[in-house]
Amino acid sequence: MNGVLGREARTRIEDLERPALDDRSYRIITLPNNLEVLLIHDPKTDKASAALDVNVGSFSDVKDMPGIAHAVEHLLFMGTEKYPQENAYNQYLSSHSGHSNAYTASTSTNYYFELAVSAASPTSSGTATPSGDPEPVPASKEESPLWGALDRFGQFFICPLFLEDTLDRELKAVDSENKKNLQSDTWRLHQLNKALSNPNHPYCHFSTGSYKTLHDDPIARGVKIRDEFIKFHSTHYSANRMKLVVLGREKLDTLEEWVDEIFSEVPNKDLPRKRWDDVSVYTEKELLTQTFAKPVFQSRSLDLSFLYRDEEDFYESHPSRYLSHLIGHEGPGSILSYIKAKGWATGLGAGGSSLCPGSGLFNISVKLTEVGLEHYKEVAKIVFQYIAMIREQPPQKWIVDEQIQISEVDFRFRQKSPPSKTTSALAGVMQKPYDRKMLLSGPSVTRKFDDKAISDAMEHLRPDNFRLTIVSQEYPGGWDQKEKWYGTEYKSGKIPEDFLAEIKEAFENPARPVELQFPHKNEFIPSRLEVEKKEVEQPLKAPKLIRNDEGVRTWFKKDDQFWVPKANVHIYFRTPMPCVTARTTVMSQLYRELIYDALVEYSYDADISGLVYEFSTVSTGLTISVEGYNDKLHVLLEKVLVSIRDLEIREDRFKIIADRITRGFHNWDYQQPFHQVGSFSRYLKNERGFLTDELAKELEGVTAQDVQQFYPLTLAQGHIEILAHGNLHKEEALKITDLVEKTLKPKRLPLNQWPVRRNLIVPPGSNYIYERQLKDPANVNHCIEYSLYLGNTQDRAIKSRLLLVAQMTDEPAFNQLRTLEQLGYVVFSGGSVSDQWAGYRILIQSEKDCKYLEGRIEHFLTSFEKMLEDMKEDEFEGHKRAVVNKRLEKLKNLNQEGNRFWTHISNDGYDFFQAEEDVVHISALTKQDMQTFYMHYISPSSPHRAKFSVHLTAQAKPKQATPEEQKSDALAIFQQILTGEKIETDQAKLAERIKSLPSDKDHTSEMIVEAITAYLTQDLQLATSVVDKILDEAKAALGLADTPETLIKSVEELKIEDLVKEGKVPVYIKDLKDWKAGLMVSKGMRPVTDLGEFGEGAAKL
Ligand SMILES: [Zn+2]
Repeated sequence: MNGVLGREARTRIEDLERPALDDRSYRIITLPNNLEVLLIHDPKTDKASAALDVNVGSFSDVKDMPGIAHAVEHLLFMGTEKYPQENAYNQYLSSHSGHSNAYTASTSTNYYFELAVSAASPTSSGTATPSGDPEPVPASKEESPLWGALDRFGQFFICPLFLEDTLDRELKAVDSENKKNLQSDTWRLHQLNKALSNPNHPYCHFSTGSYKTLHDDPIARGVKIRDEFIKFHSTHYSANRMKLVVLGREKLDTLEEWVDEIFSEVPNKDLPRKRWDDVSVYTEKELLTQTFAKPVFQSRSLDLSFLYRDEEDFYESHPSRYLSHLIGHEGPGSILSYIKAKGWATGLGAGGSSLCPGSGLFNISVKLTEVGLEHYKEVAKIVFQYIAMIREQPPQKWIVDEQIQISEVDFRFRQKSPPSKTTSALAGVMQKPYDRKMLLSGPSVTRKFDDKAISDAMEHLRPDNFRLTIVSQEYPGGWDQKEKWYGTEYKSGKIPEDFLAEIKEAFENPARPVELQFPHKNEFIPSRLEVEKKEVEQPLKAPKLIRNDEGVRTWFKKDDQFWVPKANVHIYFRTPMPCVTARTTVMSQLYRELIYDALVEYSYDADISGLVYEFSTVSTGLTISVEGYNDKLHVLLEKVLVSIRDLEIREDRFKIIADRITRGFHNWDYQQPFHQVGSFSRYLKNERGFLTDELAKELEGVTAQDVQQFYPLTLAQGHIEILAHGNLHKEEALKITDLVEKTLKPKRLPLNQWPVRRNLIVPPGSNYIYERQLKDPANVNHCIEYSLYLGNTQDRAIKSRLLLVAQMTDEPAFNQLRTLEQLGYVVFSGGSVSDQWAGYRILIQSEKDCKYLEGRIEHFLTSFEKMLEDMKEDEFEGHKRAVVNKRLEKLKNLNQEGNRFWTHISNDGYDFFQAEEDVVHISALTKQDMQTFYMHYISPSSPHRAKFSVHLTAQAKPKQATPEEQKSDALAIFQQILTGEKIETDQAKLAERIKSLPSDKDHTSEMIVEAITAYLTQDLQLATSVVDKILDEAKAALGLADTPETLIKSVEELKIEDLVKEGKVPVYIKDLKDWKAGLMVSKGMRPVTDLGEFGEGAAKL
């Protein structure tokens, strides 16, 4: 066999440059069909993964079908010859704790999945730690989940079916994805930039696609769309354009054998790699233009975009990083520092981007204040003055040396990221011309100073080679154009001669503000990188309590498994003060933002050297964290603490920050509805807390002096709790504790005054709806979050059942509500756990109204009763295994471990062994347990259920489908249902019945249902029970399912007190205060065990 012969003679590259602690082994091979593969053997991983990147993306879209590359990405997964069932792949992954995803970029389409390495559960026994030895590798490929997934995955690239009856549905999913982005400024402004570039460059086009561009328009032109998708695939998909990465616990030889067997079948057409060398993103026509764009959010910015180059071939020197480092610097002497001092700006970013082989841009974006917007011309001139200052000097070697040092240290101590992130990213990297030995290091490490390349790069930043965009809701008004795809209003023209002349003058005149300077030497670059490595048999599962007195608790764990010169220090300052009222909450937020504002210049060097801090206010106090290289951690920590204690609030900075927060509150209402809904649900679950509009009102009356007087009160009294974790000794942890205590010097907050975390209890039999209209008049999407209260998070019986029910309903809910019923692109289901609230929820964002969605959710929950009843024992056990695998998932890096400890400390539960406890409880569950649980807490028929839902309703209405569109949709969907039910159909007869219906706008849906009924009963002569079942499905898929009467009529209308009592009729929450006052509160969070057990003298854990 060709493959075998090829294997013997093949070249294998294995000596990749890698991080110091990387225990994976790598091998790069090329299959006989020219498919290049990277194999990764990870002896300790608990997840396997693969990713395949195809070198074709939206830049190759057919001109009159924008979005086709993206549509092919969606359609490719709809059935293969070997596994024709359309959800075979996802079901397989789901049953092995796996998931998959894909994305389409300009020159790449990237597909990936991840799943458990073994079909068995990892061993676990109560509080003991799971065995440190890796699970044995499955003995044969038939037993290996990875093999099964690879075989299913590979078929998509060998023999995809593009099943006709899934086409319509997937195009709707694409449409819904596009609609989700319509009101997002990121998408809108990006598209505007694209639209105003050279129309002959593919960058100019719309890449997501919609039902109109991929279905309606081409069909109207007489195009057979399915043929177009197949044609796109056969024109561009070819083995030599694909890069495959497979990561598993199996040996490299085994992985190589498997990949050979499956992927050698992918057809090779020897297609060339696409380049766009002879077409420029901006021509003379697009350069030197200024565009004023009106955003959805209240934001202001000035963007300068220079015609640049792609830097693919300069990966050893990364010349654009020299420019972005200097222009984007935030320390003393920088552009930002100068314009921030003038009160003009709050942020600045700069960087080069390679759009495709052959083109690149260099962008500078400045976030402006209100006054800054008035001075945008000066800001632009200052940017050019700074650029001229850099260009006056030859490239500075010491600056690049700093970059080399930082990037090398970062690479050397890089820790593992999740398998699918690794494979997906590397498959993308492999499309680039890196030396194969530098595949891992190439994108991040700068390895040499190339002054020629930097000089050439600087050449691009000239006053005759750029364009400007000014984004503002107020200025200058009179937008006279609309971008085609998103409707962004704008106005555009050449930069006026006099403004351009001023810019040239600023660029050429060597006299410039003395404030603009090169940065000083970075003192935060870590130099002490030693790690004391003491191998242990078992990593500790919990930190030790090394100090515990009335004022302070200190938790400490010296790293015993990751061996990086890094540490995390978290500080929790317990006090009820920050969130007593909406007003104090706003003042706390101002305080926090003012601290960040004051520390920008100081912390920037630390930030780029891998050392960051965070300061936040939570309902029960303040938190401060510092994370990164431990060498200079204490220096940054001390500075942060002193600033927190001594902040002097300047009137001018206060105004700028207050304005930013005000806009943030305003913009909150213009986010995607599914980003908003959680705040309302949280508000209903908690006894205390405030909604955004309440905070916004308070903000109006707060002054700088108010905050100056308020924050010392917050710090005056409190309890300090610290976690010090990582490459630190106990003595250092205690020293840090002293530093915190001596700097903040709070009065003691006695134990019985500590704030307690509780939740509201929604009583059994509840059925509430809280309804609210969304403020964005242009948004067409409604959103529902449907919540069921199950009980207390610290109740292990409830918690374990919740985890399992979330796992079992995950795939069916998605399949029913999103895939089959097409309710919307955003569909989530699962557990929601916070403080003492353990609940189950389903969230949908949809053009269908919330009452309809509520009905569909209940319909799904009812239908799941039967699915659970019919569930085979081995499938049930599979679900248990999937949850157990997730709970026992290995920690990937030091931060993950630190965050896990911190979660358990800062929520007052100290439940460090939670995962192991959950596993014990889950392992013991039977199907009967789950049925009992489901029928009591979740099934809509249960009188004991405790439910509320939040309905966010849209003001705008989506475009109504025409009767003809409704008919063709109905035909496609119905056909698919019949295929699913394995019923032989007479397509012509069915089409005849539906197409011949009169075009009556108001009654088309009813007539369609009648026609379908007639077809089922008269033409097919099916039994009534079958007819009912099919009609039910058809109505749901057509969006015509009945909304339960109880949801349409209000309680008053129905006047059935008993129904209300039983929870069968929802009660609308009208008065929030009254509603909350009518509920009981839960127990408070308490330590699950005596903290004495964590003391140093305590028995070994
Ligand atoms: Zn998509």
